Amino acid sequence: MATTKTAPKAASKPAPKTKKAPETTDVVEESALNELFLDELKDIYWAEKHLAKALPKMAKAATSDELRNAIETHIAETENQITRLESAFASIDEKAVAVKCEAMAGLLKEGEEIISETEKGTFTRDAGIISAAQKIEHYEIASYGTLRTLALTLGYIDAAELLEATLAEEKNCDSLLTQIAEGGINDTAKTEKE
Ligand code: FE
Ligand code: FE
Ligand code: FE
Repeated sequence: MATTKTAPKAASKPAPKTKKAPETTDVVEESALNELFLDELKDIYWAEKHLAKALPKMAKAATSDELRNAIETHIAETENQITRLESAFASIDEKAVAVKCEAMAGLLKEGEEIISETEKGTFTRDAGIISAAQKIEHYEIASYGTLRTLALTLGYIDAAELLEATLAEEKNCDSLLTQIAEGGINDTAKTEKE
């Protein structure tokens, strides 16, 4: 006996959520710009996760305590940035997904090359590590600057605040690396023989 016809589908439909203006939200969520924003968020999420794994090797390879300490501080910041990205995904009801960032993969490869091509215990190696690290920070600064602006455009205020906080940390790290290089490492490296 067929009994499936008795339950009309409309009766089980959940009540619509009322916390957001539905029309505006739908327009934003279905926009190509929203998709671009999400893709970029997934890209930087992958980048940060891989950077967190690579930074300890860079810290270990550093000659000066000053550079090692700066990198170690940034490892802790990077872990926190990963958590912030997860909060940003959550704030727009999206799952945190990492999609390979070819740029970060390339930048990390360059960093490894610089370490293997420079002598252990030299300041030339530190100058090289700083060079590699600043290229990474600049990529992150560009990424977070864009993401923050896109989040504001799309009306994702919470995500924009999280991205802005990380952007400030990346800029700070970049300036600190410049200070360390100019504060003695480059001058000492200049006296080292090939
Ligand atoms: Fe970062
Ligand atoms: Fe990327
Ligand atoms: Fe960084």
